[in-house]
Amino acid sequence: MLAPIEQWWTEDEIWRQYCEELKQTTSLVSIVWVAWQMGLWIGRAIVEDQLNTRAQLSSPWRKCRHCGRHLRSKGFEKRRMLTLVGWVKWRRRVGCCPDGCRDSREHPFDQVLEISAYQQTSDEVRRLGCLLCVFLPFELSSWLLRQFTGLQFESDTLWSWVQAQGRQAMTELSQQLARLSTGKSPEVERLEEKIAKMTLAIGADGVKVPLRPQAKTPKGKTCWREVKIAVLARLGQRLTQTGKRVTRLYQRRLVGVLGDLKALGPRLQLEAMRQGLDQAPRVVWLSDGAPGFWKLYQHYFASVAVGVLDFYHAAGHLWRAAAAYLDGRTKEARWWFELLRHQLRHGRWSQVLRELIWALHRPGLPTSNRQTLKQVAFYLQNHIEHIDYRKFEQMDLPLGSGMVESACKWLIQQRFKGVGMRWSEEGFNHLLHLRLAWVNGRFDNLFGNTSWTVTSPPSLNR
Ligand SMILES: [Zn+2]
Repeated sequence: MLAPIEQWWTEDEIWRQYCEELKQTTSLVSIVWVAWQMGLWIGRAIVEDQLNTRAQLSSPWRKCRHCGRHLRSKGFEKRRMLTLVGWVKWRRRVGCCPDGCRDSREHPFDQVLEISAYQQTSDEVRRLGCLLCVFLPFELSSWLLRQFTGLQFESDTLWSWVQAQGRQAMTELSQQLARLSTGKSPEVERLEEKIAKMTLAIGADGVKVPLRPQAKTPKGKTCWREVKIAVLARLGQRLTQTGKRVTRLYQRRLVGVLGDLKALGPRLQLEAMRQGLDQAPRVVWLSDGAPGFWKLYQHYFASVAVGVLDFYHAAGHLWRAAAAYLDGRTKEARWWFELLRHQLRHGRWSQVLRELIWALHRPGLPTSNRQTLKQVAFYLQNHIEHIDYRKFEQMDLPLGSGMVESACKWLIQQRFKGVGMRWSEEGFNHLLHLRLAWVNGRFDNLFGNTSWTVTSPPSLNR
């Protein structure tokens, strides 16, 4: 029996049309589809009813900011807003200064609703749009948003939402950095007891992004600039299907900045403090050999963290040495390299250094090859505290900086380096900070105090 549904809103033309449509449907898909539209219609009716009822309640008028007299009601004015349930309309009071001061018009109910004067789209829609843009190109996000909500927005509109929210994220970050610079520690993020007992790993790396050479025009040659990225995570373990123990990252947090290491330093320090740098039972710093990043380690973390030089980078240098010593193509070079790598891997770094120094003195070695061997020996000597891989293994620490590289890939590669993509500095920064907010679990804070938890439809639990 479909008749009762029609009686819910006998007066409304749209509702009657839906009911007609429903009668003509046959397949399950089409019944669900029409019912979905009806659900939105009901949602809209509820919202409008709420708004119009609440707008009737009187609120005290504020004083005119020019002359100080109390504003006076001038009756009701229309307001509309595009929401997740479509356009909603309501009427709310408007007040003016009785003396007719300029710019004294006010709508107190807008403030109650926490909407701004020229806002056309409600925050739950903007949040969805921004969320899609965190992962997907603007065009595709616009198309998907329409598929999921029926609401049509140009990609330019989505872009402007991202700019606004990204700017907000950046402003909040600079306020936190300013507080840190005056010696105020940030609040430590709450961790489950189990996770709080895990080692905190920190690492950093750089990756290039394609930027426009000039503002406001896509013309000119692509300008590649480096983004510095740091990753922080707690190191847990899990068993694979074959029973092997592998590292699993918990509480992964990323820091990123389009700028130099000076810009990265305080941002990384801020995040490290939030992640319990001072409380963690053990801290490990993972990095390849780039000197700048090790300076960062010396400056911020050397007093609390164990430094680990990425084993694969170290092995790469050993190969360079082997090629210089024995000509890279020969079997001997391969054999010598593998011997050295094996020794390095199992904590015999002093043996490795002895071998390198011994090789340096081989008679008849060309100067440039000797130079290479010297460089490699110096390099390892410099990192002598960071290459005791047997000890690190016993401490259950990772030997490679793979988690940093995969973070770079995820954060930058996946979204910013698509075919033909080139970014303005501002546009890049805003989206970067939205992406960071998402991965760090702070995205929803940018959209007011609503709890954005999505509950499943009631029937799902039946
Ligand atoms: Zn006035």
